[in-house]
This record gives sequence, C-alpha cells and structure tokens, in this order.
Amino acid sequence: MEKFNTFIFERFDFNKTDLVAKFYYSFDNWKEIFEEVIDFKSAFFNIPKNSLFLEGEGLIILNNFLFNLHIALWISYYKLFPTEILEVKSWFLDEEQILFWEKFYRNWLGEFFIKNYIDFSELINFKNIWKVPNIEELNLINNYINADGQQGGFSPLQEKKLLLWWGWKDSIASYSLLNSPSIWKREGARGWVDFDLFVFWKIDDIKKNTAEIAEKEILLVKRQLSNNLFKLNQQWYYNWHVPITWIIAFITFVVSYLYWYSNIILSNEKSASEENTTWKWLKINHQYSKSIEFESDLNKYLEKYLSKKINYFSLLRGMYEYKIAKIFSEEKKFFNTFSSCNRNFKINKEGQTQGTTPTENSRGESCIHPENNLWCCECEKCCFVFLMLSVNLDEKELVKIFWENLFNKISLEKTFKELIWLENHKPFECVWTYEESLLSAKKTIKKWFSWKILENLKQDIFNKCDEKTEENLEKKLLKTSWEDNIPDTFSKILN
Ligand SMILES: [Zn+2]
Repeated sequence: MEKFNTFIFERFDFNKTDLVAKFYYSFDNWKEIFEEVIDFKSAFFNIPKNSLFLEGEGLIILNNFLFNLHIALWISYYKLFPTEILEVKSWFLDEEQILFWEKFYRNWLGEFFIKNYIDFSELINFKNIWKVPNIEELNLINNYINADGQQGGFSPLQEKKLLLWWGWKDSIASYSLLNSPSIWKREGARGWVDFDLFVFWKIDDIKKNTAEIAEKEILLVKRQLSNNLFKLNQQWYYNWHVPITWIIAFITFVVSYLYWYSNIILSNEKSASEENTTWKWLKINHQYSKSIEFESDLNKYLEKYLSKKINYFSLLRGMYEYKIAKIFSEEKKFFNTFSSCNRNFKINKEGQTQGTTPTENSRGESCIHPENNLWCCECEKCCFVFLMLSVNLDEKELVKIFWENLFNKISLEKTFKELIWLENHKPFECVWTYEESLLSAKKTIKKWFSWKILENLKQDIFNKCDEKTEENLEKKLLKTSWEDNIPDTFSKILN
C-alpha cells in the first residue's frame, strides 16, 4: 500500500445534452485518479421543455448544486487512505461550509476509524485552493437561493413530491401514508396521491416490482463508480461502507433543480437517531446520516447554500419502528416482493451487486429454498424484520415471506439475543431500540410460546418486561412525536 498526503477534489464536468456529470478526484496530484459518472437522464422522465435553466446563468446555479455533490461523493475514494489535507480545486467552500462537512465526516467515519485503529485527531482538514470565489457568480447563486428558485426563469421548483424508494418496509410505510384514501378524501382532492418514486444507482427487481405494485413511476439516476476504486480495493487499502443516504441527499438536490421537485421525502424513523456506542468523546451511530441531528444540519445547509425552496424530510421521523411495522403490516400486497436483507445488496469486488438471482443467495451459495432470493435468513436484518413482523402476522404469513420460521432456527439464537439486547451492545446494523425489541419479543412470545428460540429466551424476557412495563411501552411506542423537519402541509397526514 502506497501512502498519500493529500486528497484532491479536482474538477467536475456536466454535459447538458445527455445530462451526464463526471466528477474527478485524485491522491497527491494525480498519483491515483478517480472518475465517477452520474447519469441524470432518467429513463422515465423528460426535463421540462422551454426552460432556460441549463443555459447561461442557469448553468452557474446548476454548477453550485454539482459542486456540493462533488464534495459529497468523495467519501468512496477518500476512505481508501484517509489523508490529513483535502484540497478543494473545483470551487470554493466558506468557513461555515467547511465546519459542516468536517462535522459530518468525523461523525460518519468514527466507526471506520475505530475498527481500523486510526488516530483521526489530525485528519479531515479542508483547504481551498481558490482563495477567492468569483463574486458575480456568488451573487447570482445567492439571488437564486433567496428568490426561492423563481429568479431569472430557471428551474421554478414546483410543489412536486419525490419519495426515495428502496422497496423496503420503511419506504412502503411512507407510500402507505401518502397514499391513504382516508387522507385524500379528507383533503377533498387526490393531490396527495400525486408523487413519484426516486431510485439511485441502479434498479433491481425489488424496486421495480414494488413500484409496479404501488402503481408509481420511477425517476432513476444512474451511477458508475470509478474502476480505479475496485482496483485499489483488491490491494491492501482501507475499505468501508459509505453513507449512502448522505450521497443520495445531494443527488436529489440536483434532481430537484433539473426536474423541479420541491419535496424530497425520506423514510427515516425515530430510532435512527440513537447512537450504537460511545468511544472516547465520540458517539458512534451506524445510521448517523439518517439521524435527526444530521437532517436538521443538512436543512440549514440546504437553505443557506442551495435553495430555500427544497424541503428534505422524513415522513416517519416521529415514529418508532414499532409503529412503522404496524403500518407496513397492513400493506399485504407487497409481502412477496419486498426485502430488507442486507446481504442481498452487497457489492462484490468487481462492482456487481450480488444476490437476487433465482437460485443463489448473496454469498453465491444455493438457497435452501431456491425461490427465496429475497431473504438470506441468516443476517441481523432478516432476524430483525422477522421479529418485527411476528408481532402482527401469523406463522403462515411469515413463512410465506421468509420460507421458514426463523424462531425455530437455533443457529440464530445468538443474533436474536443481541437484537433483544440480552447480550452485548446493539449490533452495528440498522436496527431498532432496546424497548422496541423487548416489547416485540414479549408480544410475540405471548402469541407463539412454542417456537424454539422464544422458548429458550422466555424467562429472560419476562424478567425484563412484566405486564405493567409492557403496557407502558406499547403506549409510548405507538405515539408519534413532533421533533422533525416535516412541512405543515405534510404534518396533516400524520394526524
Ligand atoms: Zn438477510
């Protein structure tokens, strides 16, 4: 492994005919070069015609969106070898922006540094190479931001809604809320059901099939990571998963500008704000880019540096997973097409998404049930969803989804114990809070006491959760709290 001193944000290009943006990075002045390609030309949508937002001044505004995306995308490459200095050559960051990006990356990379024994106290220092930005351009951008996107005829952001779509239970729960007939009947219009789905990177069967069931159009933005990343990943460089929610945020801001959306809707729940563990002074949250703290910081940044008119918020923010599970359990039409299994979505070293073939699971092994390519039935996420759904569904419905009863699979006992916090700390996975797991486990046991793992854990769970605790927990976990960034018009549908 070669050592580097500086990571450099070199430049980016945008082709306004085919709407393809290219982003360039390097270590130590082109010693290692990375080119990432983002294709904004959705197969399903056309850019609104007769607008000036890709010409002249409009292009300068767009460049501001793309520059911020340039800063967001770098993480995939930087983590190969974290350097002290980060040189920004593609435009200019002011002091407040630098604080924002440094805060995020330190929070995000905390877990990565811990796992790799890296002392990060000296790392991540942004440095502008252009000392003074072009004042005219800066004024133009400020005008655009303050005039709510109506200035100069470019990109008049409309009240259009875009729901980030995973085809997983959370985005399906948001769909359910936006789509609920009782809501648009109450509103006296079908306005609420008018929204599109957003998919980033590539589309798989899960997203496609669930969108079809939802009867919604998909706006797809494709991504191609630099080949050099995969080459270096095969040598001894650091590797770590990237904060995909964060990257998607900055992608959707560009999409808002190009396709005139003013509402970006996510499905991050309340428990995403809870940290996994603490190390020295740093709280480690595996899902930091889904937390309310991050979302609020991002909204302030968005308002000051990109547009006052874009709303970026999570419809499920005030809800516990426990409640989301309840909403999702009603959407039975998705049961045979959705998945939240992590192993089905891992990228292999050649850059291919694994899994989702008919006869193999994510590790290339044959499935016990060849038809079950949606769930590996081994990982924490599978166990988590199984536990969560078992509160509301019966065994027949569960087996129809997973092809087996995971509570009868003794090899998973340790994973379930961790999930219910009977052992170790909360696993480094996107799972729920201690109270949610405990209550679900308790309610499930009362219904399904003969399932093997539940039988083994029964005493522990009853000791931790008596009748009174159960009642209090249920009250608490079904309540929606209001600490969120949801615009008023959308809050109404949650009442
Ligand atoms: Zn799995």
